[in-house]
Amino acid sequence: MNHESIQQQMDELIHLLERYNREYYEQDNPSVSDADYDAIFLQLQALEAAYPEFMRPESPTQRVGGQALSQFDSVVHQVPMLSLNNAFSPIDSQGVYDHSQMQAFDERVKSGLNLAASPDYLIEPKFDGLALSLIYENGILVQAATRGDGLSGENVTQNVKTIRSIPLKLTTDTPPRLLEVRGEVLMFKADFDALNERQAAEGGKLFANPRNAAAGSLRQLDAKIAAQRPLDFFAYSIAQLDEAIQPLGHQQELMFLERLGIPTPPSDCCLLSDNMADINAFYAQMALKRPELPFDIDGMVIKVNSLALQQRLGFVSRAPRFAIAHKFPAEEAPTLVEAIDVQI
Ligand code: NAD
Repeated sequence: MNHESIQQQMDELIHLLERYNREYYEQDNPSVSDADYDAIFLQLQALEAAYPEFMRPESPTQRVGGQALSQFDSVVHQVPMLSLNNAFSPIDSQGVYDHSQMQAFDERVKSGLNLAASPDYLIEPKFDGLALSLIYENGILVQAATRGDGLSGENVTQNVKTIRSIPLKLTTDTPPRLLEVRGEVLMFKADFDALNERQAAEGGKLFANPRNAAAGSLRQLDAKIAAQRPLDFFAYSIAQLDEAIQPLGHQQELMFLERLGIPTPPSDCCLLSDNMADINAFYAQMALKRPELPFDIDGMVIKVNSLALQQRLGFVSRAPRFAIAHKFPAEEAPTLVEAIDVQI
């Protein structure tokens, strides 16, 4: 392939991904499956790795999410809201996974920390909703914002106040002065089915899946309509907290949040372990359990548990080095990408 056609191919992929990003993040109305999107994203990443001289700084592989909708006030995130790098484990016809990408993640972590053995990891569900930041000042919910482009998002405080599982006031007599919680807003599968039935009966818009229903509902301009939408929330990290009460590990962070009345991932969906074989086995177990869960998950997230070690590993571009999203195989087979022939 000559240089011109490589650049042209990369630009075409960027163009496609930008269109899909707008449909997904701004219009809550994707036209392709996540598996198709992920495959095109990987193709672009592979081309960028092979030909770094052609990489565009504005490439979707270097950015987070989409633009914030201008109908909402914009909120600047004090701590950027980033994405996660992905790992995929192809599964063969015997049902055996190839976990080499997870092995590579573990190797990167160990070499980044100069450790001979794996550190403790917490493996927890990757909720398929949309990211939300909640700020509590002296125990009172004062602001809720979407991720937007990672640096600034939409102020959705009024809508979030209608979500019953999110406490307006923390359940403690000694609240932190400042607490910023990060988590995922989602709609439970049963609530999604009931909502779509109601929409059909009223001649309203039907939602493609619980993730789109959650995103569309959270970004409703009319808080009264948002209040009728059955949204839920699970916290998965702390972005800001008074220095005097910093938990030592990610699991401790989740326990701390639980004590404050904030919903955290169900404990039977999480495992703390320093053994990659156990972590991979838990992933496989959760992949089997996935259809029975009351909410959608699209993978598991594996995070180095120690917050001190997390800090030492830090971030690269749009994602932390201390965590990885271990995506589940697509529930439906990719369709569109089969038609896109990318040569590297
Ligand atoms: P992502 O979904 O790959 O991973 C990062 C996000 O995971 C975080 O922002 C957070 O919201 C979420 N998350 C859920 N559980 C978590 C946990 N336990 N800990 C930490 N984070 C957790 O991120 P992304 O950058 O928003 O999106 C990329 C993905 O979105 C793609 O891989 C694709 O699957 C999908 N997408 C699809 C389309 C489409 O057209 N179908 C378009 C754009 C994006």
